[in-house]
Amino acid sequence: MALNGSNIVHQILIMKNTGVFMKSKINKKIRILILISLCLLLLGACTGDNFGSEDSASTKDIPEAAKLESESVDRPQKPKTTLIQPATGIVEEGNTRGEGNISEEKDTTHENNTDGDMEEYITYFEGKYADAIPNSWGEKVKGVITEIDTDDKVIALTFDACGGKNDGYDEEIIEFLIDKEVPATLFINSRWIDRHLDVFLDLADNPLFEIANHGHRHKPLSVAGKSAYGISGTQGIKEVVEEILYNDEKIYRITGQKPRYFRSGTAYYDEVAVGIAGELNYKVVNYNVLGDAGATYNKQQIVRACSSANPGSIILFHMNRPEKRIAEGIIEGITHLLDEGYTFVKLSDYHDYLR
Ligand SMILES: [Zn+2]
Repeated sequence: MALNGSNIVHQILIMKNTGVFMKSKINKKIRILILISLCLLLLGACTGDNFGSEDSASTKDIPEAAKLESESVDRPQKPKTTLIQPATGIVEEGNTRGEGNISEEKDTTHENNTDGDMEEYITYFEGKYADAIPNSWGEKVKGVITEIDTDDKVIALTFDACGGKNDGYDEEIIEFLIDKEVPATLFINSRWIDRHLDVFLDLADNPLFEIANHGHRHKPLSVAGKSAYGISGTQGIKEVVEEILYNDEKIYRITGQKPRYFRSGTAYYDEVAVGIAGELNYKVVNYNVLGDAGATYNKQQIVRACSSANPGSIILFHMNRPEKRIAEGIIEGITHLLDEGYTFVKLSDYHDYLR
């Protein structure tokens, strides 16, 4: 019989009620011995219950389970293992469009279970970098990748979708890439995803393209509130973390894929912010060929920029300004590079060679 505390109490009550103690003929010493034995048994059973409850306590299992889950989706490993989880779980295979969540994706909100995790990240980084004073500010600060370290005749095309109020979608460029089977890495801002969700879902579904993170509010990434091109940057570590992770979470929730590359709005950073992005498992990727200068170049300038590319170049274009009519120049520039024998690759194809 399984013996536990309530069983024993029950047995004592039965014995008492049936008059075992009062009516038996055994002497007083034996009765005392029986009582002591029962008390010891009761004590042992209660102790066993406590151990049992500790063994089965879920608190012991949570860190490992969280770690496994985080590893399985290649989540950042620092500073802790319970990382941002998608509010709706991992999107099922074959359902990367996440139709069930679209209504929740209408704006850039982040009302879900992740704010607690976000706070822990912010606390961690604010502690770690409390005394850090950045000494550089720009597009090529320490830690920012600008090219692929290779002699292979390859080029990585990158396209930004910035998410400004009047942002469009330059379909002509993307259709050309699809037609010629030219792969590219697309840096997408959180607000662009909200405004062009159907297009985003198509792009994310197309194996020619990989989705990268172009920030939540399209801010220059500064721990000290610096600006670039008149655009005010993130005001501190808290906003740096939010700028990266809110869009990270959005992309992951919709696609089931965690982006590996980050480029800030304006492509400006300080080196402390770049370090934070690195700890969040991101490579910060800029360029060594300015392809369209924020969609301001004319056709000749774009073609000339493309012709300056070398093996391992990373070219920066934009896919959010169709009204600037840069498509023609980009198409001609890429066509020339194809004619010269270049192969186009995604950043992840040369992940370990990004410098
Ligand atoms: Zn941008």
